[in-house]
Amino acid sequence: MQRIMITGGAGFLGSHLCDSLLKDGHDVLCIDNFFTGSKVNVSHLLTNPSFELMRHDVTFPLHVEVDQIYNLACPASPVHYQHDPVQTTKTSVHGAINMLGLAKRLKARIFQASTSEVYGDPEIHPQPESYWGRVNPIGPRSCYDEGKRCAETLFFDYHRQHDLDIKVVRIFNTYGPRMHPNDGRVVSNFIVQALKGQDITIYGNGQQTRSFCYVDDMVEGFLRMMGTERGFTGPVNLGNPGEFTMLELAEKVLSLVGSKSKLVFMPLPVDDPKQRQPDITLAKEKLDWTPKVNLEDGLKETVYYFRNLLSA
Ligand code: NAD
Ligand code: UDP
Ligand code: UDP
Repeated sequence: MQRIMITGGAGFLGSHLCDSLLKDGHDVLCIDNFFTGSKVNVSHLLTNPSFELMRHDVTFPLHVEVDQIYNLACPASPVHYQHDPVQTTKTSVHGAINMLGLAKRLKARIFQASTSEVYGDPEIHPQPESYWGRVNPIGPRSCYDEGKRCAETLFFDYHRQHDLDIKVVRIFNTYGPRMHPNDGRVVSNFIVQALKGQDITIYGNGQQTRSFCYVDDMVEGFLRMMGTERGFTGPVNLGNPGEFTMLELAEKVLSLVGSKSKLVFMPLPVDDPKQRQPDITLAKEKLDWTPKVNLEDGLKETVYYFRNLLSA
């Protein structure tokens, strides 16, 4: 049994990670400022004596005693991270410094939720960890992309300079129950629009691609990464290599929901990556991890969640 802290623990991925760690018998300290996360995501855990919820913004120092840290705090959807871009960079950079300072004092293992966005709009396809990426440093996505890149730099410098025990994963698009219905990401947008009979908003011509991983597979990848031997730092790509255009995703959602919503085409956001697919060779080798849930099955679970949410 370990005392494990999760920053951003009331968010989409963080709340599922809380569930898994509690199921494995650990003590969980969930830290969140509820910017994009919600108490509702962890309300079912509040009566569990092994669970503790603390409102805190990671851009400020934090003094607690734990054995392991998962650093997930950061808005993840383009709409939310661009809402207050300065705060987004602060969360990634000051947040990383504070959590790394905490891990250094405690000699605790620390995990960083990095992102496929460190590859920017990639020219290498699929993306291996060795690819340095193609990121615009001054665009509307830069607060997130460069913030996460700088956080990786900090993790590796604390590792080299202070011998910190770090674990860095680069997460590719992940979806599932507890995504925020208004968070603007494509899977939640399409499902909510289909369920409400609203137009499906395709940005650009819909030919851009993403690779979608179901949340349960992702959380399993986190746990396996955290269980690797000291000295194995990553970065490791985690994602499902199944690659789809946004038009294909829209068709799948419409048929699963049984919706007659029309497709409408809207302007492509600035710097929207054209293609994205993880090369997961390293995760397969080092973590013996490969995603199990295909897009159709994962979407069914997610549609079921949103159907209940919207009818409640
Ligand atoms: P999310 O928005 O649901 O979760 C982020 C959580 O962090 C929220 O609960 C939010 O309230 C909290 N938070 C934000 N700023 C904070 C701050 N300053 N202090 C404390 N808490 C703060 O998003 P998610 O999809 O669960 O993403 C979790 C992590 O995984 C993020 O770091 C994100 O960058 C990363 N990630 C997610 C995806 C994905 O597809 N879901 C892809 C790549 C990376
Ligand atoms: N920090 C923290 N909790 C701790 C220890 C440190 O929040 O338990 C913060 C601290 O406020 C500092 C940051 O982590 O701003 C980096 O700490 P570190 O010891 O690496 O650097 P220094 O304090 O020397 O700047
Ligand atoms: N997208 C879309 N319609 C929407 C929301 C998003 O066509 O309502 C597109 C978006 O332009 C991008 C892809 O879907 O090409 C994935 O967007 P998301 O915001 O989910 O994630 P990210 O761009 O960070 O991968």
